[in-house]
Amino acid sequence: MGIKMKKIQMVDLQSQYAKIKNVVDASITEVMDSAAYINGPIVHQFQKNLENYLGVKHVIPCANGTDALQIAMMGLGLKPGDEVITADFTFAATVEVIALLQLTPVLVDVDPVTFNIDVNAIKKAITPKTKAIVPVHLFGLPAEMDEIMALAKEHNLYVIEDNAQAIGASYKHKDGSKTKVGAIGHVASTSFFPSKNLGCYGDGGAIFTNDDDLAHKIRGIVNHGMYERYHHDVVGVNSRLDSIQAAVLDAKLPHLDTYNKARRAAARKYSEAFKNHPNIITPTGLDPNDADDSHVFHQYTLNLKGVDRDALVAHLQSKNIPCGVYYPIPLHKQKAYTDPRYNEADFPVTNELVKSVISLPMHTELEDDQIDFITSTVLDFIASK
Ligand SMILES: *Cc1c(COP(=O)(O)O)cnc(C)c1O
Repeated sequence: MGIKMKKIQMVDLQSQYAKIKNVVDASITEVMDSAAYINGPIVHQFQKNLENYLGVKHVIPCANGTDALQIAMMGLGLKPGDEVITADFTFAATVEVIALLQLTPVLVDVDPVTFNIDVNAIKKAITPKTKAIVPVHLFGLPAEMDEIMALAKEHNLYVIEDNAQAIGASYKHKDGSKTKVGAIGHVASTSFFPSKNLGCYGDGGAIFTNDDDLAHKIRGIVNHGMYERYHHDVVGVNSRLDSIQAAVLDAKLPHLDTYNKARRAAARKYSEAFKNHPNIITPTGLDPNDADDSHVFHQYTLNLKGVDRDALVAHLQSKNIPCGVYYPIPLHKQKAYTDPRYNEADFPVTNELVKSVISLPMHTELEDDQIDFITSTVLDFIASK
């Protein structure tokens, strides 16, 4: 044995913090000294810096990514009974807020290669009641936005991008031009939950839009529906990004591209080790020369064929290798979201993926010896069966 390998974590936020501690601590201390804990100048500064980074006209910070989605939908003025189409294979927050607002969630299947919402399935699900589509850029890979925007235009629908997992990723349009995800739909949401690609040290989120009127409306909604102090024009919520979280985010934003690059580098090492394996499908969308920033690997997720996934999970755990199953149950089968409208035959991909996917440790600080140990443990397990 050579030098001892660092303990493998699903997400290693401690090592990441150690490298930027001076800047982050100074930024937090400034907030503490100023006592501007809520709506301090740093919140506005971070907002402006993120607008510039994304190339979007308006960033409206809020308390978390779930609120961001809900507020985006409130801003669009969606009404009870309006149908909102989203993916069956995603985190529940997406469908939760649709249901909370008494809109009707319509879950549709995903693509077996990208894991993102299936555009043909969206087409089939559109009815006269459909008002919006919520594509999720799952695991860091942009959804098929050109097709989705065209479909939305044809049917006069809103597009709300759930960008909680793909901040910093660029979408390549059919004409070759690029736009950062979150700046394409009518409105977008993101989350700054600590483990996300741009994470703070608590909860945080934001809404993005290029629409001036919608931005104005949303700025009131996040602040109790106030557009003028103590005048409440609409029913709003209290959803703020606090100054300490903004200080952390503003210190981390300049590193986001480097962080996403490190994720892609780790993904390339994983995919190289699993290349051409008959039982392992590695994630799509990875440029071997890193000339393309279209995938930011919030998760590195394998699709296994003819492998007992749950036995592999147990085996990795026995070797102190954490892993995750995102997501183990299709949303249309969750008690809270079942609906007689759903037909099992419409969800062949999600129904299969929940049994065959496994996400390996993915973060900005993965080391080569850790990746070697993880990949050889996976390969040895499959070879032994
Ligand atoms: C994390 C996440 C959210 C919710 O973000 P929170 O900040 O935890 O509320 C929403 N959608 C997706 C796809 C997510 O991954």
